[in-house]
Amino acid sequence: MKETIKKPKINRFEKMENTIKAKDRVIAWPRMGRIDIPLKALVVSLGAKVVIPPANSNKALELGVKNSIEGICLPYKMNLANYIMALESGANTLMMFQAPGSCRLGNYTKMAQKTLKKMGYNFDMVIFDMYKSKMKQTLHAFWHVTHCLNPFKYYKGFSLGFSKFFAIDTAEKLLLKTRPREINKGDSEKCYEKWLKITDETNSIIEARKLRKRIIEDFNNIPVDKDKIVPVVFLLGEFFVLLDPYTNQNIEKELGEMGVEVQRQIMFGDWLEHVLKPSFLYKKESHRERAVRYAQKYMKRAIGGETIETIGDTVYAAKHGIDGIIHLMPFSCMPEIVSQNIFPKVRKEEDIPILSLVLDEQTGRAGYITRIEAFIDLVKRKKMRKEKNDNKIQK
Ligand code: SF4
Repeated sequence: MKETIKKPKINRFEKMENTIKAKDRVIAWPRMGRIDIPLKALVVSLGAKVVIPPANSNKALELGVKNSIEGICLPYKMNLANYIMALESGANTLMMFQAPGSCRLGNYTKMAQKTLKKMGYNFDMVIFDMYKSKMKQTLHAFWHVTHCLNPFKYYKGFSLGFSKFFAIDTAEKLLLKTRPREINKGDSEKCYEKWLKITDETNSIIEARKLRKRIIEDFNNIPVDKDKIVPVVFLLGEFFVLLDPYTNQNIEKELGEMGVEVQRQIMFGDWLEHVLKPSFLYKKESHRERAVRYAQKYMKRAIGGETIETIGDTVYAAKHGIDGIIHLMPFSCMPEIVSQNIFPKVRKEEDIPILSLVLDEQTGRAGYITRIEAFIDLVKRKKMRKEKNDNKIQK
């Protein structure tokens, strides 16, 4: 009889290097959108010190490009630069978020670890395997870096962190909706910046829970042109480039100033809630589940990265009157190359305009903006034609 050998259960965190004492740890993680605000609240509540690397910039890009192999995708280069900058500022424990699938992200940790060790840095790296990890593993990872055993501190950290994630999601959604309609240019941007600062400074659980409501009230007071015809565009594609304004050349602001409402399909708080919450507590249909449902005609299963979200969101947009799709992907991103190849069929069958933009360190601003402007011109004309036809039918 064939004997089955059970593999011993190995804890991922115990396999990792643990060379730094918990009390000496100074923790850092890569920049991506404004995740620094909620994550800092969480980690500091557990009693750890943190270093936030500076926001992504030309300097970070140069540093990342210089220390990476040429063909690797842009998110890796930016993450590596963030780590170098954080280590230079005194960090000694690096948090890495990774996911499996047919995407290079699964190999990033080892590559970054090797490169940084070769450069002479001394640090520990803690991996958060976000697609597999539910709350229990995430708590374990935080325990590993902080050695905090006080349940109240975890309660406070996670409450503050989640409230801040949701507050930032709300502020971002309202900024995208209000900016193209605002009467006084810059009002919504100022309101957004103000609430980022307040969110960052809030340290009480009760106050953090009120943030969302206060943000909505404040945005509602911004004078807007309610009759303005504003095309609505879905912004979708690869996770990192969607969330990082430096890498995507501030596309949301550019579009808002062109009079376009952007609906970004990946919001960090939303995504994190779905990843971390036990399924019996997560009652609504998640963004990913919706995408899988809508993508069925074009792809039957996820293949890694955000491909299934990209396709599912595009079909959803076409069926819900969205005027166009802007798809962002880093150069050589395997999952999004698959999306690009499915797009011609989706565009034809669902009748929706799609612009796919590829980003890397060579992307020139002038050409990038010109392509967006030409696309928006097309979207606006299509919308005007549709409005005219609808009016005729009503008469
Ligand atoms: S999804 Fe694409 S860009 Fe992102 S890590 Fe994977 S291969 Fe790189």
